[in-house]
Amino acid sequence: MFETQTLLEHSEPIRRRTVRNVMIDPNKGLVLVAEDEKSIADLQRLYLSREGFGVHVEGDGRSALAAARRLRPVAIVLDVGLPELDGTEVCRLLRAEGDWTPVLFCTARDDEVDRVLGLELGADDYVTKPFSPRELVARVKTVLRRASGPPGDAAVLTLGEVRLDPARRRVWASDREIPLTSTEFDLLAHLMRRPGRVYEREQLLSEVWGYAAAAGTRTVDVHVAQVRAKLGDASPIRTVRGVGYAAEAP
Ligand code: CA
Repeated sequence: MFETQTLLEHSEPIRRRTVRNVMIDPNKGLVLVAEDEKSIADLQRLYLSREGFGVHVEGDGRSALAAARRLRPVAIVLDVGLPELDGTEVCRLLRAEGDWTPVLFCTARDDEVDRVLGLELGADDYVTKPFSPRELVARVKTVLRRASGPPGDAAVLTLGEVRLDPARRRVWASDREIPLTSTEFDLLAHLMRRPGRVYEREQLLSEVWGYAAAAGTRTVDVHVAQVRAKLGDASPIRTVRGVGYAAEAP
């Protein structure tokens, strides 16, 4: 354990003051916050620090991209509307480099949610402003928990041509490895653990995303579509009309 101060040397002094006495747990790692509204960034820093995360803040997209490459954060809290480089563009560039660090998008408007979901950027989750700092922290913990995978339950799952290794968090269709985001992976793994079982969207939101249906079940549809697009004909996910989804050998 060491003082926050040491991790925040490159930050603005005023931000440093707000978390001076918070202790960082080095095991939790560093969260990169990309946010150009200072009051929001300060709140995010404060609450994430309280949870023991190291926090590094950048106020524009270009600096955030550079920081993500340099600091290798455990998660990125990424504002969509950023100067220099849009948040969606930051995420797209990281994914193009094979960087699958969990990304939690912060969106200001519904049309930004549509963009985040529609661009298939491999976003792990999103929150819409205004959000409570507590909610943000809970979401960050959820994406990290999912990225690290559930303990135990490590047997390789096979359905048709799809093979999923929970321990290594890798998926193959035939012999081709398919890169999935941590959310896509967890959704597929959840369905594949109990082949044939039909899950309602609300149930998937609660069991895979870890929060209540208020977040909107469209998220589930979008992620299912992304998994299907990546797996192609090998996709084991079947739509059960009026109910939800199930995984079955195609
Ligand atoms: Ca903004």
